[in-house]
Amino acid sequence: MEAVIATHGDGVWEDWLLVIGEEVSTKNKAFVLWLTGLSGSGKSTIADKVYDHIAVNGQKVEKLDGDVMRGFFPSTGFTKQARDEHIKRVGFMASRLEKHGVIVIASFISPYKEARQFVRDMCGNFIEVHISASLLECERRDVKGLYKRARAGEIKNFTGIDDPYEAPDNPDIFVDTEKETVDESVSKILNHIRQYI
Ligand code: ADP
Repeated sequence: MEAVIATHGDGVWEDWLLVIGEEVSTKNKAFVLWLTGLSGSGKSTIADKVYDHIAVNGQKVEKLDGDVMRGFFPSTGFTKQARDEHIKRVGFMASRLEKHGVIVIASFISPYKEARQFVRDMCGNFIEVHISASLLECERRDVKGLYKRARAGEIKNFTGIDDPYEAPDNPDIFVDTEKETVDESVSKILNHIRQYI
């Protein structure tokens, strides 16, 4: 017998089906894929590619990107309080989209563990991906020229330079963009989310 479950249930159906021994299908279940890492670690590059793989299946998917979001709301600051508010706002938006069946790919430095946990708690299915590259490598890449400006003192509160980055202790997915090619990192993520898409 095929199990019938709500597409985005509150857990009740799933619990009941588990009790009667049905395997719960997770296919077509929305989720929030949350990419965290230093500037230049590879979040946007990976988010774009993962997005393309999901969108090609015709599934509803939305990308939320830190640079784009700050572009729309340029007064968003970089103090701990401003960063936390920004992440909580974006996280709330992600959770609403997820609730309505939209897969969300969010790429934000999101340097503070507590704010990421806040978002995890709001979402139904939150998948934290640590996009890891050393500060040295991110500075070498300096994709947007921001590290140079931060070192010159032109930008204050720059993550990794004069602002902290709290790496996840136990991310759902860990990718090392110094050791892996872009395609390897993307494959690792796709393998993990294949159960949902
Ligand atoms: P972020 O969004 O984290 O600020 P970007 O995606 O804008 O970072 O830039 C990351 C840079 O690192 C790109 O130039 C990309 O080509 C390069 N890069 C090298 N290896 C990888 C990898 N495995 N995954 C992602 N990006 C990589």
